[in-house]
Amino acid sequence: MTAEKNQLLVTENLEQAYQKYRQLKLEVDEWIRKRGSYWLAGLSMNKESPYLPITDLPQDAIIELWQRLNISAKVEITDLKLQELWEQLKLGKNTMNPEMASRFQMAVSGVAKLASQAVSEKGVPEQKFNPRASENPEKNVVACPVCGEISTLAVLTEPDGKRVMHCSTCSFEWPVQRTGCLFCGSEDSKKLLYFDNEAFPGIEMGVCQICGQYFKEIDGRKLSAVDYLWEDMRTLPLNYATERWIEEQVRKDNQIN
Ligand SMILES: [Zn+2]
Ligand SMILES: [Zn+2]
Repeated sequence: MTAEKNQLLVTENLEQAYQKYRQLKLEVDEWIRKRGSYWLAGLSMNKESPYLPITDLPQDAIIELWQRLNISAKVEITDLKLQELWEQLKLGKNTMNPEMASRFQMAVSGVAKLASQAVSEKGVPEQKFNPRASENPEKNVVACPVCGEISTLAVLTEPDGKRVMHCSTCSFEWPVQRTGCLFCGSEDSKKLLYFDNEAFPGIEMGVCQICGQYFKEIDGRKLSAVDYLWEDMRTLPLNYATERWIEEQVRKDNQIN
């Protein structure tokens, strides 16, 4: 009975969270439609990747979109106060409540998406593991070529299962090698373990036993037309479980050695 009740609560919270996310997402899309070309015209992108790191995004555009999201959530706050919250964040002090922080995240992502859409029109070549990435993390195959953020979300695309990485920050997708570890380049398939969970069909967690990194892989042939960002958030329990599993392995290894 209690378990059933808990399950119901979780489902209800998830449904509420989804509705909130959906509403913000629609606002962001609407803003991009109305204001996107104006802000895009003023963006100057680098010649090489990352084309537009998130630290270089126009602050005024982020405030504008953030304010739009606040209004949609019926939260009254001045632009000046938003600037202050942001300054605090830059100093490493997060003084925002979780809802304000998620609207801020959505605003940053929305502005980053402008650059992502512009680069998507041209596309980027398939990214292969770069052995020099350890000196230069932004050249890593899992670093988004547009905004430079690290992605841990891979998608196998229709129709033939080509693998792309999906950036949770700017939504950019780029093709990557189909086999091997994306983090350390290991081609030893026995050392790359895949876990699935019947609660989340069409999703697997890949763990590399060489470097201890993991990624989530969504099979887009089974879960086509899903919102990958929401899918990633909804399945965060898989990330926690994978992290716990890795910690456990490290602990056991230390006991043996
Ligand atoms: Zn990105
Ligand atoms: Zn690895």
